[in-house]
Amino acid sequence: MSKQHDRLQRIEAGNNQLLMAGKTAEELSAIAGGTPFYIYDRRQLVERVESLRGQMPSALKLHYAMKANPMPALVQFMGSLVDGLDVASHREMLVALGSGVTPENISFAGPAKREEELRAAVAAGIIINVESELELERLYSISESAGILPKVAFRVNPDFELKSSGMKMAGGPKQFGIDAERMPDLLKELKTDKVELCGFHIFSGSQNLKTESLIEAHDKTFELAEKLVSLSPVKIRHVNIGGGLGIPYFPGEKALDVQPVAENLERLLSARKETWLETEVVMELGRYFVGEAGYYVCQITDKKVSRGQTFLMTDGGLHHHLSNSGNFGQVIRKNYPVVIANRLESEEKEKVEIAGPLCTPLDIVGAKMELPKAEVGDYVAVLQSGAYGASASPQAFLSHPEVKELFL
Ligand SMILES: *Cc1c(COP(=O)(O)O)cnc(C)c1O
Repeated sequence: MSKQHDRLQRIEAGNNQLLMAGKTAEELSAIAGGTPFYIYDRRQLVERVESLRGQMPSALKLHYAMKANPMPALVQFMGSLVDGLDVASHREMLVALGSGVTPENISFAGPAKREEELRAAVAAGIIINVESELELERLYSISESAGILPKVAFRVNPDFELKSSGMKMAGGPKQFGIDAERMPDLLKELKTDKVELCGFHIFSGSQNLKTESLIEAHDKTFELAEKLVSLSPVKIRHVNIGGGLGIPYFPGEKALDVQPVAENLERLLSARKETWLETEVVMELGRYFVGEAGYYVCQITDKKVSRGQTFLMTDGGLHHHLSNSGNFGQVIRKNYPVVIANRLESEEKEKVEIAGPLCTPLDIVGAKMELPKAEVGDYVAVLQSGAYGASASPQAFLSHPEVKELFL
């Protein structure tokens, strides 16, 4: 293994065992009623949010984008730590409402919203991030039929993109939002008696570890926001500048240096024109908050050698953790940080392939990893697994048991 995982230097350990929420894999397995399971660490969530708040300008509002991890207990807990929640479907909206966060601090973004999703969001009084002109027309009709003024924000597809993003979600033709160049006309024609325009949403990308790219995107986002605010027929309550802060997943990746990004935001916030000095600026984050606080743990059920190659076979795999298998948006598969949870260090090392129970060669937990020599019964833990894990995986594929989720 040539390059180290940045994250491995910051794990909690005791007695040569990985500690997750202060407990060993064996203890957690007993709590879960066996493997495989996800474990999310409450204390790590608190530390993460507090540390980001400490660095970011105090005026910046922080929202949790709950599609990263929609476990209801975790969403409720995050709701108590941040200033608002972002949802992307009706079911997520129901979980968000149940968390006790006030509806005005819940926003609903997502393309192709169904008519009943729109009606539900209007009735609940949450902010709907309008993704198309037809969606706006639908909201006008709902406003008339329901006799409620829908609260809306325009999701604007900017004319720039967040460079070096793991996932580009804006710039050029996109299925998300309304093109920035359409906004002047749309705002001129806006029926303010049929919707209450509250804000703008400018989301340019995700999973970014480059400070310069984030800074450049924020500069352009503020420029666009200022233009939109000046064109708006009503006072704008909030501008959501998206998120994009990434976490290191793969060997060689370094944790994001937030300080320069925060300093730039401080500068941008204080340089705003009078027209939107009182507008709340919101950053929405998913994986940055929850990714490092989560672990996926499975158990070794078999060990075999095939033509000189040692395989550790596990009871968990792709069906629970698609992104770790390399099949969730990655072009080339790289290893997440993986450890033998009950033998973190050992004199005796072994080069292994770790594979799950699915009948497909795609079911890889770790490839060509040099790890302490492991045996059947040992625990394999995948780090950086708190975001896009259980809910982003094809759990029904091959009909194995569903993964358990612990939140301690
Ligand atoms: C998915 C998504 C996020 C969260 O992205 P992360 O990379 O998990 O921080 C934020 N905003 C919107 C609009 C999204 O679709």
